[in-house]
Amino acid sequence: MAQQISYQIDNNLYLSITDRCTLECVFCPKTLGDMTVKGYDLTIIHRPTEEEVIASIDDPTQYEEVVFCGYGEPTLRLNVLLEVARHIKQQGGRVRVNTDGLCNLVHKHNTLPELGECVDSLSISLNAQNQEIYDLHCRPNLPGSYEAMLDFTREAPSYIADVTVSAVDGLEGLDIPACKAI
Ligand code: SF4
Repeated sequence: MAQQISYQIDNNLYLSITDRCTLECVFCPKTLGDMTVKGYDLTIIHRPTEEEVIASIDDPTQYEEVVFCGYGEPTLRLNVLLEVARHIKQQGGRVRVNTDGLCNLVHKHNTLPELGECVDSLSISLNAQNQEIYDLHCRPNLPGSYEAMLDFTREAPSYIADVTVSAVDGLEGLDIPACKAI
């Protein structure tokens, strides 16, 4: 079976570079054993190299954005992400990273200066107005995840112009207005 590294949805090209996460979100298809999205099977047979990811991108300029996403946290593979993002920028493409916002916690330093050099936009999963709701739905494996995600979110606009925060509406106890206030 050929591995789906890149996949197109609407005008964006998405890149799946890992199936690992430090979260185990209860609402995530991956947690429920389903690795498909819009008809694409994102099962990771092996973690693709930077060369394989680059080879899976035809022409980044023909997409609105090239998005690091998939059923895994892309910043866990920070070096591969940065190398591929630099390549996309060199080719004239636009780069977005969909992330859990735990990059600095995992890598134990401020990664935003590196990301800011080659990432145009960030979409960060906030998913809760407080730690209790976050722990309930995102089930972090690393202590301090909620606070680390908030710190990353506060810091991000100093390095990246376009930062969006998201939450999954309808989860038990989730307060969307409170999330918006954050
Ligand atoms: S961080 Fe993303 S990919 Fe990982 S379990 Fe949560 S929703 Fe799924």
